[in-house]
Amino acid sequence: MYTLFENGRMICPDGEVPGGLLVEDGRIAALLPETGAPWRGEGERIDLGGAYIAPGFIDIHVHGGGGGDFMDGTRESFEAALKTHLAHGTTALCPTTLTATFDELGQVFALCREMASAPDAYRLPRILGAHLEGPYIAASQAGAQDPAYIRAPQDGSFGEILRLSQGALRILTAAPELPGADKLAKAAREAGVLLSMGHTDGRIEDAARAVEQGYTMATHLYSSMSTIIRENGMRRPGVLEGALLMDEITVEVIADGMHLPPSLLKLIVKTKGPDRVILVTDAMRGAGMAAGVYKLGSLSRGQDVISDGAIARMPDGVSFAGSVATADRLIRTMCGQAGVPLWQAVRMMTLHPARALGIPDIGRLEPGCRADLVVFAPGVKVLGVYREGKRVA
Ligand SMILES: [Zn+2]
Repeated sequence: MYTLFENGRMICPDGEVPGGLLVEDGRIAALLPETGAPWRGEGERIDLGGAYIAPGFIDIHVHGGGGGDFMDGTRESFEAALKTHLAHGTTALCPTTLTATFDELGQVFALCREMASAPDAYRLPRILGAHLEGPYIAASQAGAQDPAYIRAPQDGSFGEILRLSQGALRILTAAPELPGADKLAKAAREAGVLLSMGHTDGRIEDAARAVEQGYTMATHLYSSMSTIIRENGMRRPGVLEGALLMDEITVEVIADGMHLPPSLLKLIVKTKGPDRVILVTDAMRGAGMAAGVYKLGSLSRGQDVISDGAIARMPDGVSFAGSVATADRLIRTMCGQAGVPLWQAVRMMTLHPARALGIPDIGRLEPGCRADLVVFAPGVKVLGVYREGKRVA
């Protein structure tokens, strides 16, 4: 059974193309640019009315939304977060943990596996595996992470995490300067886990070593990350400068318009090049919700943070405690504040994360790719979301 999406503007990897596309059995069967021959087959026709059609958004760093945090470790909280981000165009994501007990992490892994393989999993965003943010991080760059559960890589506990994960772990954010970080990196790579430098106080030499050990990403660039210090008058660059400088590193950017001002967004795109930028929400449970007080982390152990609807702050009223953004807002910010063309901002939220994770059949409008799609009006106003060609939001 074919479904034809017609009369739209496709956001393809190289730019906007007027036309539509054909879906069969949950995958894109053909792209049909306006300039080509019209399709005359049998099937359902969906008139896009001139709206944009893009690959569904992919968020590789997200803690929650809609009142739920993945750390709650409950089906209800997973559903709440997944549904909220789905409604804003996200069709795949990596549930992201906070530094916590192994019981709590084990529960998140179990739910990732269970919900990814459920028969009705297509109703919600694809779960691409967990992103473990900590526990192997620098105490001095903990940010909103609970320092009580920070661990040292050389304590040998990563084997326990791998056992608990049973394949559900996809990305590890760690501080590469910690003693034993080299063994941790080796174990992660052997288990097929991607490595991202984050919550780190290392120097640029640590970042260079991290690249040699297989790190390919930097977690929320500028946030909880070391930068230039002066020793005996000499400037010593940190991991931030390493991440900007090294071509091997793709950087996560929280483009909610609050974490980074327009000048830094532009600086990142200029130094890394658009191809090495991935937009992430780093959203907490207050995403998609009204202003209010929300727990950061699990309901049982988390701490209260205050959302004004634009940003969540720690009780000090100053420090940020994760964002309350959704993917559509990140794209709006990159276009509006960083001057990035729409098709390129969409790439940062689709093709680039898919490529970083090594998943070839999502994140692009191309024949053979999965028909996870988002339809939106100018201003990234989401009009419809499709998973495997079926309307889900
Ligand atoms: Zn985070």
